[in-house]
Amino acid sequence: MLYINGEWKKSNSGETIDIFNPATGELISSVASGGKTETEEAIYAAEGAFKKWRKVPGPKRGKYLKKVASIMKSKVNEIAETITMEMGKPLADAKGEVLGAIAYVEWYGEEASRVYGDILPASHPDKQLTVHRQPVGVTAAITPWNFPASMITRKIAPAIAAGCTVVLKPAPSTPLSAIKVFECFHEAELPAGVVNLVIGPAEEIGDVMTESPVVRKLTFTGSTAVGKLLLKKSAATVKKVSMELGGHAPFLVFEDADIDTAVTGVLLTKFKNAGQTCISTNRIYVHESIAESFGQKLSEKVSELRVGNGMEKGTDVGPLITPEAVNKVESHVKDAVANEGKILCGGNRTGEKGNFFEPTVINFANEKMKISKEETFGPVAPIFTFTDEEEVINLANHDSYGLAAYCFTNDLGRSNRLIQDLEYGIVGVNDPAPIVPQAPFGGVKESGMGKEGGRSGILEYLEEKFVSVASLKREE
Ligand code: ADP
Repeated sequence: MLYINGEWKKSNSGETIDIFNPATGELISSVASGGKTETEEAIYAAEGAFKKWRKVPGPKRGKYLKKVASIMKSKVNEIAETITMEMGKPLADAKGEVLGAIAYVEWYGEEASRVYGDILPASHPDKQLTVHRQPVGVTAAITPWNFPASMITRKIAPAIAAGCTVVLKPAPSTPLSAIKVFECFHEAELPAGVVNLVIGPAEEIGDVMTESPVVRKLTFTGSTAVGKLLLKKSAATVKKVSMELGGHAPFLVFEDADIDTAVTGVLLTKFKNAGQTCISTNRIYVHESIAESFGQKLSEKVSELRVGNGMEKGTDVGPLITPEAVNKVESHVKDAVANEGKILCGGNRTGEKGNFFEPTVINFANEKMKISKEETFGPVAPIFTFTDEEEVINLANHDSYGLAAYCFTNDLGRSNRLIQDLEYGIVGVNDPAPIVPQAPFGGVKESGMGKEGGRSGILEYLEEKFVSVASLKREE
């Protein structure tokens, strides 16, 4: 169903899209698929609602968000099951995602009360200079399938806390999770038109969003290629944009690191979500003096990971999103082997049905391999070796991506140098899980612009208005 102006509705044409379970290939549901006209209706509703919503006091907007959070809490299992059914991640991880999604709603429920302005020192005794922060306006949000609930709240919670209204387009493969989240908005009795959901063909909906002069803000999470396209299209109406794009995270393990902690770090950053996140580890650089034992320990642990349907208890790694995703992962593995890589474990498709690939560790990775440059978006961990710190920092800094980097060391001086020199928006030092609602998440270079989370996250939905008031006495 689509959700426009506070009402659930079918598409105008009656068209639907089919949603499949990636673990079984089975059809789970068919949902309404809208396009140009429904997106126009949603933008119109958001425009109408903005006039009133922007004037609702921040603390009251925050109260709505807290109500949304409490409704989501009562539905954690239901939302998590939907996530697992439509995108495959293990149920325990899906629950973790829902709790993460709620954490953003709660955090911005508080932040709604703290949209401050500034008072500036004037250059004249009879002038008063102030900066006001006001909501940007109608916001178009486009989200991906890999975190089909939390990507939505990371955008909508700060947007509506700031006083914006939203039209959301989720990924076509995961609309059911979006519907579940919107059910919570509906139950919280957000005023009609504050949030709107349009499901359907990406380009058609995206074109209406980018061409509309009413839409003042576009927030997107997805591939760098689509992000670039949307940036170009948004230029015509000079929208404010936030882009969370691709990544190619390096994972540095120095000779002074705790190897077991680093191995656990790889399990979390490479195999959670079957490697399908933009902050997934893509390149593991291990100091040559510990590379052999690291490879051995890692492959032992990776061999123990259980691959299967995310609904089954004990599953560590679920399916990939589509058969094409499996083809890409397989092609990266084949290319690595053709370039002198050695498979320490895994390396093959698995399962009689569903989009499964074995958790894989590849040794002797090198710069000739595709895996060293392109995002694999799958459960494949390539191990490179290095000799010294300067060399590995140069290797770690990617040509075009700059989202997340991880480094494991117990040397404080080295850690300080890495923090300075790694060209990434997020750096985890001995921390494989650096993402929290109070911190800014976002990349540099072609990994994007703008932040989600923290104080920076709400500023993305606000614009500054400078006001100068003169009370000059007339010269006699
Ligand atoms: P992924 O490869 O992770 O699916 P995409 O960038 O293709 O990443 O998709 C992320 C989101 O962008 C999805 O909601 C998708 O439907 C949407 N999308 C893809 N192409 C376009 C487009 N041309 N215009 C607007 N949205 C698009």
